[in-house]
Amino acid sequence: MNMQDLPASLTHAFARQRAAHNAGPAPEWAPRADRLHRLLRLLRGAEAALIQAIDADFGGRPAIETELAEIWPSLEAVKGALRHGRGWMKPRRAGVAKWFLPARAEVLPQPLGVVGIIVPWNYPLYLTIGPLVAALVAGNRAMVKLSELTPAFSALMQQLFARTFHDDEVCIVTGGPEVAAQFSSLPFDHLLFTGSTPVGRKVMATAAANLTPVTLELGGKSPAVITPGYPLAHAVQRILAAKLMNAGQTCIAPDYVLLPRALLQPFVDAARAEARRGHPAGLADANFCSIINQRHHQRLVADLAQAAARGTVIEPLFEGATRDDARHRMAPALLIDPPADCSVMQDEIFGPLLPLVPYDELDDAIAFVNARPHPLALYWFDRDGRRTEDALRRLPAGGVTVNDTLLHIAQDSLPFGGVGASGMGHYHGAWGFDTFSKLMPVFHQSRTNGMALFLPPYSAAMRRLLGLMKRY
Ligand code: NAD
Repeated sequence: MNMQDLPASLTHAFARQRAAHNAGPAPEWAPRADRLHRLLRLLRGAEAALIQAIDADFGGRPAIETELAEIWPSLEAVKGALRHGRGWMKPRRAGVAKWFLPARAEVLPQPLGVVGIIVPWNYPLYLTIGPLVAALVAGNRAMVKLSELTPAFSALMQQLFARTFHDDEVCIVTGGPEVAAQFSSLPFDHLLFTGSTPVGRKVMATAAANLTPVTLELGGKSPAVITPGYPLAHAVQRILAAKLMNAGQTCIAPDYVLLPRALLQPFVDAARAEARRGHPAGLADANFCSIINQRHHQRLVADLAQAAARGTVIEPLFEGATRDDARHRMAPALLIDPPADCSVMQDEIFGPLLPLVPYDELDDAIAFVNARPHPLALYWFDRDGRRTEDALRRLPAGGVTVNDTLLHIAQDSLPFGGVGASGMGHYHGAWGFDTFSKLMPVFHQSRTNGMALFLPPYSAAMRRLLGLMKRY
């Protein structure tokens, strides 16, 4: 898609941001901090409205989940950037190869310019604010495309940002896949996309036309592995906590569980007890989230039906109703060892269904994971540190939490991102600052240096020195 084929609303917004960047391409700390402070005030002032809008979009998203998994980590991201941003901006001393001493070298972080951010619907606030904080602290201008599946949230964000930011600083774009495709055709200096792997492929292809570098935060099937001897009750509690939050509509939710064969029934019993303890009202429990819309609900209904038709035993976890089709609510269920070609074992589930896959030898479990595309997250439950270390060396994954679930995402000291089919690039904390910066290498020559020796006609002394340089 050429620039002239794109809607004027997009190209004009882009041009305004580009002009503003060109007019001040290297903002000091003060304007960056000012933008972050405004973002903090926006979040604090609109907390209740944001919770309400997301609840409306889901047709039932528990307020406490929005507070815990969206508001709080968003505030943490902004506060972290305010605390450390000035330090991240500083030139970084780098070493100089011994032959060039006493010259010096440094890495100078520079803003990239105008960046694009594409946001999915499942955690619409945190997946806006996380990348936006990184873009702003690195001194960029940002255009943010929100998901068409969260219309109330998107409308509210548009209002809030219009009130808080000039649109040449941050501009919120709404619209469906067509707008999204047009958006990704803009010649951004960097594009961070969070969403599904198939759409990520399209985004990367579109960005390639402009040589726009991409960070792709994608999905996939994230396994939880319970090793022999690990306390089952603890593993079940942590796996269910992650799977039931947002009704499993979480990119790093455990997608399936690998466990010793003898633990299949004990897992089912413990999971049922745990789910009922946490959600005594079952599907009607106000602390259990709805499926985002009818289409996704029906996709999960079809997944279940297909697995059942193929002879998979399905173990519902809540007391009472297993579905409320009118309100697109689905109770969590375990699927006992579904055939490998069922959709629940092929595609990311993104809902409250959890296949249990038994293994006989732990090496079989590792081979099972490695026979599939690299996951976004891996959960390894093991009391044996040596075995854990050995396994992690053999298991490529976007990120890992050992003996718990989800928590690696909450550490801003850790890079967050996928590998292979689950994504490329990283953000969070200093990693996000670096993603949205050009780390410009600079070599400062010293007055005293031996470069004259290396000019033609090449002297015997220079040849002797080169001989020395090759040896040491
Ligand atoms: P999606 O890929 O359907 O949509 C994501 C965004 O892309 C939306 O804003 C949409 O409008 C836009 N889009 C659609 N078509 C496009 C196109 N042709 N070009 C550019 N943009 C386009 O994903 P979704 O259903 O909103 O979100 C769920 C997926 O996101 C899951 O796969 C989940 O694992 C993944 N996810 C990943 C992370 C992560 O951090 N890695 C976080 C949350 C969700």
